[in-house]
Amino acid sequence: MKKVTVIGAGTMGHGLALVHAIGGCDVNLFDINSTVLDRARQLIASACATLVRAGVHQQHEVDAAQARITLCHELADAVADADLIVEAVVEKADVKRTVFSDISAVAPAKSIIASNTSYLDVFPLLPDGLGVRTLIAHWYTPPYIVDLVDIAPGPETDPEHIQAVRALYQGFGKAPLVFEKLIQGYIANRLQSALNLECLRMIDEGWVGAEDIDFSIRHGLVERLAVLGHMRKMDYTGLEMARNALASRVYTPPTPTGGSVTLDRLVESGRTGVMSGAGHYDYGDVPAEKLLETRDLKLLEMKKAIQDIEGKQR
Ligand code: NAD
Repeated sequence: MKKVTVIGAGTMGHGLALVHAIGGCDVNLFDINSTVLDRARQLIASACATLVRAGVHQQHEVDAAQARITLCHELADAVADADLIVEAVVEKADVKRTVFSDISAVAPAKSIIASNTSYLDVFPLLPDGLGVRTLIAHWYTPPYIVDLVDIAPGPETDPEHIQAVRALYQGFGKAPLVFEKLIQGYIANRLQSALNLECLRMIDEGWVGAEDIDFSIRHGLVERLAVLGHMRKMDYTGLEMARNALASRVYTPPTPTGGSVTLDRLVESGRTGVMSGAGHYDYGDVPAEKLLETRDLKLLEMKKAIQDIEGKQR
């Protein structure tokens, strides 16, 4: 699969273009918003500089990868010769339904379509005939650093396409996890959802602040989860204790209400995260590129440390 098209050039799309280009593919990157497309070029360049600075790639490698990425302003041009089409548009069913329909109208019959959806069951959104060559390949941000890729078939997906995409990403040195059938949210996203619910409940209720939560995670959870995972960590804690904790019913999970007053307040005041300069925290005038660079350098160091300790698993 040499020719890849990424549709949607936002938070994920620019990183997906880069990871496929580093893997040796020729990548067409398309977005309906030309400002986003221009910004994607800058974010890709900045990510490449970080990868070189961290010693993960050499300058000539990222130069070649960037040269393999073409920004496209028309969907038909972007997909004209695609072997693999990576769908990374906004997480809205109606938008994805339209994009799948547009892809079906202009993409060559040989192309496999891989959706990066976080939670949606995209298969009912497909037009007739597309199901056999559509699957989910869900990445984590930043995809040029985080290795897990959740791969899931729909009811009609050709198993050979699943194997081809798995082989492609294994060839990139990534860590694909193939599900027999779609579990919405996969594993890691379901766990993140449970964390989100609990963290936002504690803030909404006024029990603790965002900094307290991150303090507890960074000083209490992260090292053990990083080297053991969660289920092995449970073995070390002792399963009798886990059983007793369940039996005591002291902990009651939050009831999902479909919202959070904290998130409503932040989003409505324009604090939508690092791209806007603020979220739960203030980032002052530090540009997003700098924030991402700092995060990426730390992630790369931690990833290397874990690999040194644990070896590369699965
Ligand atoms: P985003 O909002 O940053 O980017 C989405 C892009 O889609 C925007 O640039 C928008 O202009 C573009 N778009 C909208 N309609 C389009 C159309 N018809 N044709 C082409 N482009 C169109 O969103 P994101 O965070 O990059 O998420 C994209 C997908 O990736 C979602 O399905 C999301 O669930 C998934 N995802 C996101 C993350 C994350 O950390 N943000 C992680 C894993 C998966």
